[in-house]
Amino acid sequence: MLPIWKPVLSDDITRKSFRNLMMIVWASWFFRADEQFKSATSSAMTRSNGQFNSIGLPIPVKIIGGVLDAMNEARVNAIQNVFSSISVTTSAFIRGTYGCCFECRSIMVGALQLEQHASGFLSLQPKSPYHKIPYIGVVNKMQAFKSPTWSDNKALPSKPKQKDSSPHECGHSSFASIFSHLNSSIQGLEVVKFVVPVTTTLKRKQTDK
Ligand SMILES: [Zn+2]
Repeated sequence: MLPIWKPVLSDDITRKSFRNLMMIVWASWFFRADEQFKSATSSAMTRSNGQFNSIGLPIPVKIIGGVLDAMNEARVNAIQNVFSSISVTTSAFIRGTYGCCFECRSIMVGALQLEQHASGFLSLQPKSPYHKIPYIGVVNKMQAFKSPTWSDNKALPSKPKQKDSSPHECGHSSFASIFSHLNSSIQGLEVVKFVVPVTTTLKRKQTDK
């Protein structure tokens, strides 16, 4: 494990709680409990360090494989979207849709690069399937990106002189605000989209008797 991810991984679920979580995924899928299934899949996908290859239970993967595949796909897509919002933001500053003046945009682009480097995003170049990278860790890091504090009271060429020396503020001067739209969790899956195999259903009915 690379040290850069240690702060992120402090939010990790333990192996035991992960097993319990996956047990809820399995049970809620088996008994078609939509709310519990949605909540458990959301929590597992949001906090997982990697792919769901098994549920850690003595249940053949092929029985619940469709659920695991969907969880893997949703998790990877969510992390991809979060990372892509960094490049979208950088592009917005460069093109001028974000930032109020040349200095503001330059400072924010530079800070964005520095914070990505500090978070390991540049050197690690995280790629799908984002092994050891939990969704919530990435979101937390981005929303904690340090925003530059600077004053533009010295009559910058592209801005008129301001009366006081208070820190610069504009609609895009805070990364916490820019990345506030990122969801703190991945939306859970709907149980109705996953069919319980016929043989499993029959066994369940026999057990019910
Ligand atoms: Zn500005």
